[in-house]
Amino acid sequence: MSEKLLMTPGPTEVPERVRARMSRPMQNPDVDPAYAEFYRELTDKLAAVYDTDDDLLVLGGEGILGLEAAVASTVEPGDAVLCVSNGLYGDGFADFVSLYGGEPVTVSGPYDEPIDLEAVVDTVADHEFALATMVHCETPTGVLNDLDPVLDVLANAGVLTVVDAVSSLGGAPVPTDRIDLCLGASQKCFSAPPGLTTVSVSDAAWERIESVEPHSFYASLGEWRDVRETGWFPYTHLPSNAYALDEALDVLFEEGLDAVHERHERAATRCRERAAEIGIDCFPATETLASPTVTALRVDGRAGELQQTIHEEHGVLLATGLGSLAEDVLRVGHMGYGATVEKVDRAMDAIAAAL
Ligand SMILES: *Cc1c(COP(=O)(O)O)cnc(C)c1O
Repeated sequence: MSEKLLMTPGPTEVPERVRARMSRPMQNPDVDPAYAEFYRELTDKLAAVYDTDDDLLVLGGEGILGLEAAVASTVEPGDAVLCVSNGLYGDGFADFVSLYGGEPVTVSGPYDEPIDLEAVVDTVADHEFALATMVHCETPTGVLNDLDPVLDVLANAGVLTVVDAVSSLGGAPVPTDRIDLCLGASQKCFSAPPGLTTVSVSDAAWERIESVEPHSFYASLGEWRDVRETGWFPYTHLPSNAYALDEALDVLFEEGLDAVHERHERAATRCRERAAEIGIDCFPATETLASPTVTALRVDGRAGELQQTIHEEHGVLLATGLGSLAEDVLRVGHMGYGATVEKVDRAMDAIAAAL
């Protein structure tokens, strides 16, 4: 087989140009004023990708840091927090809330159905929520949630919103301007190496963050508020990773965001078409829930075996499911650099052959 193909839903393949940028000479982020200027430009670029006027932060740390930091920075012990979920990451937010002393109230539905809007409406009416958490793309199941109706309900109730858009930002439009804290990471659709978390912070979110007693230092967003102005990082930034992310964003801009989103749609559509031809069902079955960045295929009980065969005999690396779906779902990541019809075809050819 020719070159190996990485088609996992993160980390994704990193283009050579982005890898090469990591070899740039090291700057000292704590000392060199040029690095502070670079960081400002990086956050400006990110704001353009997010398509928001909110502040952008780039934290040194893998994507999970953003999820934890958003909760650690906004939840006080005893706070009731609404955790809207139809997947593993959505459920996981409730664990972070408990860890920081909050009281999660979970509106959780089946993993292959849309968010239960009626339950959200009823639950919001019954509680005083400080905050609500939700997930845009549930990567383990390939579900993209329509967040607008949920955000409408929360906006009307004046509830602050935290959204995990780690696996959709840079691959699909995200309603960032309606979200108070919107989380991304370098290693999914941006196709940069793992190691950086991106966070947009609204004015309302800053107000909340300033009013909450911090119970973490490393995961405290408040520590990052003035970095753009002062050039002082709370702890040493990760220059090599930041150079790579900067290059990856340039790659996005050169293609154009709309074109990038369309390319993801085409790759996802092709993936589902090929699955239908081969005779595999998708999880979820509902087309309107299908994510443009990742497709989960139902392969009841065979995911591990298929993944291994496809890797060893065809040089294509896919992901199995997670949690209770570990063996029942095989996932094709058509994210970032991997979101092309040609790469999806190669992955689907390998699946067909392995079956
Ligand atoms: C990848 C991902 C994260 C970050 O977690 P990892 O440790 O990189 O797996 C968070 N949320 C979602 C929805 C993700 O897909």
